[in-house]
Amino acid sequence: MIELSKYTKELSKLILSSENILLICHINPDGDAIGSQLAFYHYLISKGKNVKMLAPNNLQEFLKWMDGTDLINIFIKERKKCRILIEEADLIVMFDFNQSNRLGEAEDFVKSSHARKVIIDHHLDPRGFADLIISVPSMCSTSELVYELVSEMNGVQFINKSYAECLYVGIITDTGNFEYGSYTSGTFRIVAELIDTGLDKFKILNMIYNNFSSDRMKLQGFALNKRMVVMPEFKTAYIFLTKDDLKEYHHVKGDTEGFVNLPLSIKGIFFSALFIEKDNFIKLSFRSKGLFPTNEFAARFFSGGGHLNASGGEYTDTLQNTIDYFLKALKENEWRFENRM
Ligand code: 5GP
Ligand code: MN
Repeated sequence: MIELSKYTKELSKLILSSENILLICHINPDGDAIGSQLAFYHYLISKGKNVKMLAPNNLQEFLKWMDGTDLINIFIKERKKCRILIEEADLIVMFDFNQSNRLGEAEDFVKSSHARKVIIDHHLDPRGFADLIISVPSMCSTSELVYELVSEMNGVQFINKSYAECLYVGIITDTGNFEYGSYTSGTFRIVAELIDTGLDKFKILNMIYNNFSSDRMKLQGFALNKRMVVMPEFKTAYIFLTKDDLKEYHHVKGDTEGFVNLPLSIKGIFFSALFIEKDNFIKLSFRSKGLFPTNEFAARFFSGGGHLNASGGEYTDTLQNTIDYFLKALKENEWRFENRM
């Protein structure tokens, strides 16, 4: 059991002494980023605090049903308003990331703000840009950590339907519904508590996993059929999608979520990558099973990071050049595949 009281004392003090609290999640927020941010929001609101929320860019469509998502200000949509929110905050709490570049365009404004800053996160190697860094990499999700912190600060378990739903979303999305990630028996105890609050787990599962458009399903079929390259010699497979591919299938944000996991279902494949062509760069996602450290690979070659088995990064070049560079990096890393897959 991790001793959290050293954090919660400080966090409680910061919350008590702050008038305007701003909660921020990472760019391209996933279920855990939004889930942990919203859960903390519901807790603070119940304590009568003045709280605002911000995300660097748009939310994925399949998360927008969650209670409070309509209150999240999107930096790239309302830059001026968001800059004012950052300026006015005396406490900024950040969720599910530990590197300032994950703030996207909000990075410089957050870094130069006079507010006291807290990071609540479960990624490895925090790069300190906050006054208080609450980092517990052994937890499966930031949502799990928020549950523990709030329970400790609140004295008893905090019960609120929206809060429980948001944490549940964070936990299931960061573990692929308990398929991967560092979940433990402790995670299941938390999940049991959340379910006991009466949350409708089937409704949530359907909103997260059975809520796709037919275009999205067709895009998945196309990606596997026409855009997946399997390289058994490297125990690796990758999928690439061009801007035109996405356009053809009427892509909306979130449609490619989960694609990177699919090649790992192939026997003998231990490392998977997804390349998505953006306007000025290529977004990469990495997944592995076993010991191959995708986060080290992402950090070394693609200015990225994340967890051992799930990470991401980016590269500013054409799609073809990025794929070529990836293949070169793979070859350079060959020894790791022998030893660590
Ligand atoms: P995804 O592939 O789902 O976008 O991201 C998987 C994991 O990698 C998440 O934990 C996410 O926080 C991390 N990640 C994704 N992209 C980046 C990136 O560009 N930089 C860093 N540092 N982490 C990333
Ligand atoms: Mn997370």
